[in-house]
Amino acid sequence: MAIDVAFSIEANDYIDPDRAYDLYWSGIITDKKKFICPGTDCTAQVTCANLDEDLQDMKVVPHYRIYGKHSEGCEIFNDKPLNLKCEDGTSIKEEKRTVDESIVDVFLLERPDSYYDEARTDAGNNSQAIKKPGFVRRSKDTRLREAGSIGNIYSVRSVVGRYIRYRNDGSIDQRRVNILGKNIYYRSIFKCIWEQDLDDLPNHPVIYYGWAFVNRLPSGAGYQIKFKKKFKKGDDEYTSTIMIADRLIESYEIKKLVATRLEKIKAQGKPTAFVFVYGEPKENVSKAGNKYANFSITNLDMIDINYDCPLPREYNK
Ligand SMILES: [Zn+2]
Repeated sequence: MAIDVAFSIEANDYIDPDRAYDLYWSGIITDKKKFICPGTDCTAQVTCANLDEDLQDMKVVPHYRIYGKHSEGCEIFNDKPLNLKCEDGTSIKEEKRTVDESIVDVFLLERPDSYYDEARTDAGNNSQAIKKPGFVRRSKDTRLREAGSIGNIYSVRSVVGRYIRYRNDGSIDQRRVNILGKNIYYRSIFKCIWEQDLDDLPNHPVIYYGWAFVNRLPSGAGYQIKFKKKFKKGDDEYTSTIMIADRLIESYEIKKLVATRLEKIKAQGKPTAFVFVYGEPKENVSKAGNKYANFSITNLDMIDINYDCPLPREYNK
């Protein structure tokens, strides 16, 4: 039986696989087996599969698997809604199996300051008897889903992950994500850089993607990501790049993940990666007269760097 939420012994909270993945790669969670079933009085062991993979192949996203034996009264075992509440006592709504059109994921461009700290405070003091608290330390809008997640989305990586999940469960056509107050269908959120005319792009940020060369900057202070395909404007071609300063990587909570991926990519003979970036390209012309349409990022949550295309074949270009 699939579950979307499990109790993390190390983080001392009920979390979805996306958050577990972030907490693992930021060093707060260390063991993919230290999860238990969220059911009442249930201590069935749960493993978060793929937690420790840096996702060579994102077609298999992190997910929970139950190994232990459920308690008699466990809601998961009895196929009943979970009895979870927020700290303030409001119960968490559980989504029905059928996808409700009104349900929209929310992609927030900033993580709350407490995102890592809440989990960090409790890490370490959880060695003996496990006592699950009766509430979820999440915001009021938290929902449980049959085939979704418990929390908001804070990274392009998670948007890609949910796209893959929804595609696998057949609900992709109904699924939407809210960004900056605008509801966007998942199937229209990704835009390939190839052959896009700059004059025809949406006038709001979306997630652009494509194969790119990844190189160290000549200054040695970071990486340059240069998309293989170019934007165009009429007959003109615009090269598209993203700079990632080492300083930006250093200040990122999940730097271990980004650094691991970049190191592996750099070790290739001709370092290339499949890159997603949230933003809007900005045109400029270099002194030498070369035309650019570049992305600038100030937060590594807004970029996802993959060894291969994690999306279906029609996206692989
Ligand atoms: Zn259980």
